[in-house]
Amino acid sequence: MELTSIARPALLETMEQDMLIGGRRVAAASGKRFETRNPATGELLAMVAQGDAEDVDRAVKAARAALEGPWRRMKPAERQRIMLRLADLVEAHYDELAMLDTLDLGAPLSRTVLGKTRAAALLRYYAGQATLIAGDTLNNSAPGDVLSHTLKEPVGVVAAINPWNGPVGMAVWKTGPVLASGCTLVMKPAEQTPLSALRFAELCLEAGVPEGVINVVTGLGDTGAALSAHPGVDKIAFTGSTGVGEKIIKAAAPTMKRVTVELGGKSPNIVFADADLDKAVPAAAMAVFANSGQICSAGTRLFVQSSIREEFMERLAAFTRTIRVGDPLDPQTQIGPVVSAPQMDKILGYIEGARGEGAQALVGGSRLAGPGYDDGFFVAPTIFTDVQDGMTIAQEEIFGPVLSAFSFDTAEEVLERANATPFGLGSGVWTRDLSTAHRMARGIRAGSVWVNCYQMLDPGVPFGGFGVSGFGRESGPHHIEEYLETKAVWINLD
Ligand code: NAP
Ligand code: MG
Repeated sequence: MELTSIARPALLETMEQDMLIGGRRVAAASGKRFETRNPATGELLAMVAQGDAEDVDRAVKAARAALEGPWRRMKPAERQRIMLRLADLVEAHYDELAMLDTLDLGAPLSRTVLGKTRAAALLRYYAGQATLIAGDTLNNSAPGDVLSHTLKEPVGVVAAINPWNGPVGMAVWKTGPVLASGCTLVMKPAEQTPLSALRFAELCLEAGVPEGVINVVTGLGDTGAALSAHPGVDKIAFTGSTGVGEKIIKAAAPTMKRVTVELGGKSPNIVFADADLDKAVPAAAMAVFANSGQICSAGTRLFVQSSIREEFMERLAAFTRTIRVGDPLDPQTQIGPVVSAPQMDKILGYIEGARGEGAQALVGGSRLAGPGYDDGFFVAPTIFTDVQDGMTIAQEEIFGPVLSAFSFDTAEEVLERANATPFGLGSGVWTRDLSTAHRMARGIRAGSVWVNCYQMLDPGVPFGGFGVSGFGRESGPHHIEEYLETKAVWINLD
């Protein structure tokens, strides 16, 4: 598929974009709307329905009704068939979904189209799980002849609250286990990127997912707050910042909703002197600069062993200078703008702060200006050297294209420093030594350790955080357990 031949999505022919509740596109009860714009050009893409507590209530009721309707009685194999159809539809329409994300988020089309393989694979993986749900028959030592077994039942109405950095991929990821387990969903996409979730939910209907099973309520942070506090929600699957994650957990407490939270990170990427530098140099750059640094598990803290530091940093700087930043629609572009003006200002604030604390920008360090840049929010890929472990840029999640580089001498030392933040999401280790690789993998406190690679994801492999990076794992064979309740049944045979 030639990237230049991907059309403007038909969805954008309608300026007023409504929510999707109970199988129908509906405006907010209040009639309010908010803007979503293209961060590369400033173009207004749509005026999106701004849901409030009333709309959330309608959506939760639609999800509850669907849960208690025919969906509950549908056989696993039928859910599976629908999911496989959905996978085919998502594949067939992926150019459209990718283009929506490129326009809404600013991620290069060359990047967003690559999400197709993963989105289809996720849906097919969870489709497989639909027919694998099983309770156990369990021995007991009760007096008499008593049989005990467990039933696995859908947890109920799930609220998914999503971030903006990978919109359609996130919508698919949140939907897979819902459909596989027989739950129903109210999804709140991020305000910056609401469009692809709406189109994806339409494809769910087209695939045969019954009305009300997948609902999308668009809106702002208070829409998410209303959703996370709604007593009709049984489980929240949140992905976003650690700060909002804390609010979600509190909102869930009064009705004891099940909660999983996938949060921020400050992930270490560690290069030992024996590493294959031809691989490690570009990978270390893209571990942090891909998607303009807007990836939760981005390798934002680079530790390079002292003996190769000079060579490595020179090569890393040279590689970084070749990265093409610009128009997301240009097939050659590797990095687009960041998502919004506030996000850009936040990143530039961290850059200024780093300079103030004495760090040096080896590459980048500013907003990009000039033709093609001035209407958007472009930040140059930035590498800071001479960073101290305690500096703000070394401790806080920036969520922009900013790398902090450090050097280290020994494995023990780097392990301690790598673990010295409250986060624990991703991590990278580059070495040819088997013992070093395994010892680091054991020692690093993070949900994922990538050895001689970075940012690998697969539907069959769990992803999630330690510490303030959250709890619960998405993907992998056990993810679906988060969407199931276990009921013990005792049958007295005497
Ligand atoms: P965010 O500000 O936490 O927002 C996430 C979602 O929560 C948005 O839909 C947001 O709505 C909503 N929200 C805001 N305030 C809320 C409240 N009080 N109650 C309920 N919901 C509320 O995160 P973001 O800036 O969109 O995304 C970036 C963050 O996500 C980063 O920290 C990143 O590390 C994290 N992330 C983590 C993972 C992971 O798997 N661990 C993956 C991707 C991203 P609005 O958009 O309307 O504000
Ligand atoms: Mg937008």
